[in-house]
Amino acid sequence: MQVVNSIAMLQHSRAGFSGSIGLVPTMGALHQGHITLVDRARTENDHVIVTIFVNPTQFSPDEDLAAYPRNLDADLEKLEAAGVDVVFTPNNSLMYPDGYQTYVEVADLTRNLEGGHRPGHFRGVTTIVTKLFNLTQAHRAYFGQKDAQQLVTIRRMVHDLNIPIEVIPCMTVREIDGLAMSSRNVYLSAKERGEAAVLYRVLQAAARAYDDGERNIKTLETIMQDTINTSSVAEPDYMSIVNAATLESLERADDDAVLLASLAVKIGHARLIDNMLIPGYLNTPEGLLAHLGNPQR
Ligand code: AMP
Repeated sequence: MQVVNSIAMLQHSRAGFSGSIGLVPTMGALHQGHITLVDRARTENDHVIVTIFVNPTQFSPDEDLAAYPRNLDADLEKLEAAGVDVVFTPNNSLMYPDGYQTYVEVADLTRNLEGGHRPGHFRGVTTIVTKLFNLTQAHRAYFGQKDAQQLVTIRRMVHDLNIPIEVIPCMTVREIDGLAMSSRNVYLSAKERGEAAVLYRVLQAAARAYDDGERNIKTLETIMQDTINTSSVAEPDYMSIVNAATLESLERADDDAVLLASLAVKIGHARLIDNMLIPGYLNTPEGLLAHLGNPQR
C-alpha cells in the first residue's frame, strides 16, 4: 500500500494502474462503516484509492474541526489489511493553496436538513469531492447512506457537471443496538452512548407507522418527536421526512412515494445524524442504488 501526500506522488501511483479505480473519500478516524465502503470498492474495481482529509471548508467556525478525531497510524493499518492500493493524505495547503478561490455549489438540494443547519457545509463537501474526483480520475466513488443528503447532492453534481464517475451508495453500518457508526461517537460519555440508539428507534418508529398505513407526514414527524422525547439527553436539531429524490417537504405520501426520514440530534458534545428510506424495505444495496445513487454512466 502506498501512502502519498503530494499530487505528483498521487499521479505517479495513478499512472501505474490499469483497469477500474474505486475511490473512497474519508476524513479518517476510520471504523467499520468506512471499511465496508473500502471492501465494496475492492470487490468492484481493480484498484482502490482511499483519501483521508479533514476538509476545513465543510466545517463552520463554531464546529469541531480542531477537535475532530485523528488517528492516522491506526487508519493506515486498517486500510492495509483491507487491501487498499493507495492512501492519499493531503494537508490543507495542498488542497487549498494561497489564493484559492474556486468553489462548487449545488443549489436547491443543499438548502434544508443538514444544509439548513450547517451553512456552507455542502459547498465545502462538493468542492473537495470534485477535486478528489479530478485528481484520482476514479471510475466509481463510494459514499455511505449515513450522509444521505451528501449522496443525493453529489449525485446531482456529477450529473450536472458531466463528471464521468459512478456514485455508489453503501448501507449504513450500525452498532448492535442500532446506533450508526460514526467517528464522532467517541465524543459520547458511557451514559450518552447508552442513550444514543434512540436515533435509530426514531427512524424505526416512523417506518413502522408508514408500514401500518400512516401517510400524513406531520403525523409521522410527531411520532418521531414522541420517540425522541423518551430520551432526556437527546436534543434534536431537526427531524423530518422529505421526498427522497428532491429533499422537498410534503404533506402526504402517495403510495408510490419514496421518502427520506432523517434527523440530527445533539447528545452531550456530539451532534449525530442518521436516516432511513421509507418504505423501510428500500434500505438494501439495490434500493439505495436506485434511489440515492446514479447507476447509469
Ligand atoms: P467521514 O469520514 O465521516 O466523512 O465518512 C466518509 C464516508 O464514510 C462517507 O461517505 C460516509 O457516509 C461513510 N460512512 C460514515 N459512517 C458510516 C457508516 N456508519 N456506515 C456506512 N458508511 C459510513
